[in-house]
Amino acid sequence: MLEKGGLRIRKVLRGPHCAIISDSNVAPLFGDRVRQNLTSSGFQPALITIPAGETSKTLEQVGAICDQMIAAGLDRQSFVIGLGGGMVGDISGFVAAIYERGIPHVQIPTTLLGMVDSSIGGKTGVNARDGKNLIGAVHHPSLVIDDVDLLKTLPRHEFNQGFAEIIKHAIIADAEMFRRVAQVSNLRTKQEASWKLAPLIQRNIEIKSRIVAKDELDQTGERALLNFGHTIGHAIERAGDYREFLHGEAVSLGIVAACAISIKKAGLPRDQRDAVVDLLRVFELPTRLPARFSRAKIFDALPFDKKFERGKVRFVVTTEIGSARLSSDVTMEDIREAIDQL
Ligand code: NAD
Repeated sequence: MLEKGGLRIRKVLRGPHCAIISDSNVAPLFGDRVRQNLTSSGFQPALITIPAGETSKTLEQVGAICDQMIAAGLDRQSFVIGLGGGMVGDISGFVAAIYERGIPHVQIPTTLLGMVDSSIGGKTGVNARDGKNLIGAVHHPSLVIDDVDLLKTLPRHEFNQGFAEIIKHAIIADAEMFRRVAQVSNLRTKQEASWKLAPLIQRNIEIKSRIVAKDELDQTGERALLNFGHTIGHAIERAGDYREFLHGEAVSLGIVAACAISIKKAGLPRDQRDAVVDLLRVFELPTRLPARFSRAKIFDALPFDKKFERGKVRFVVTTEIGSARLSSDVTMEDIREAIDQL
């Protein structure tokens, strides 16, 4: 798939100049292959590498990338390729949104989370000092190239965290997929990966794209359903200073808390909550907080989340696996109780 990337890009974009933005882990693995492939398709790519890790998702880094793009001769006909996980996808998309007031963006996600979640929906951006993803733009990619082979080098815990978003999609939109997800654990061969993982990724892309298409600008509440598990998940990520838990791990805990609230406020049957917890565990995702972790710190981190607009709580609950809705009667006390129980 990666080998056909240049040809596929050629069908939608002119160039000839382009920037491949990648990080210090991914560039040594796939940077040269992508660069050579683009060159053989007639493009003039510049490979720009930033340090791996969430701390690179800053406005300073955006400025440094833009300077390198100017030096490499990128103009309004040029385009940007994000080659990496969600961090690279978000910052490269934001660079594409603002460079010369906007040039096309191509995503080549290299993490499972990138393939099933962050490369879809057009949300791009960087972190501010006081919160994640507070600076950004909606800028949809012109093309997303998914190649499951790229996931082979992904550390196991990074691979597994992608399942938090897959399980979230199943809970909010697809009970049948929920029953199938466990089959994708312990993939042993490349063939098995293409039979089982590729269709699962495709289904997740369909679910997220369908929801985004109904409410692109987050105005009707439909897109907010994608935040299931994220309200408390983001607070856990922040309370852990973005070091203690990976995004997917924090979301896993947020999903468990959202299920507890859903039992109380939306009639979710307890055995369905138990099935969710079991499935998260299949992928070695956390479902309990370490005893030493401060619950008060999580609660304190809540108001920083963008979803706490004007002090009001918009909380996504699930009534049964496969369906979710926004609730307006979840109180801060319900949230505190769910965090205490984690
Ligand atoms: P990441 O991009 O930081 O990647 C995780 C780690 O895996 C990094 O160290 C990276 O270098 C490494 N890596 C990536 N691909 C690899 C490969 N194939 N082989 C070996 N190592 C590889 O993190 P992520 O989990 O992919 O994404 C998290 C980011 O995505 C966060 O910044 C989050 O805010 C963002 N996000 C955005 C959206 C959106 O809609 N835009 C949605 C969800 C998450």
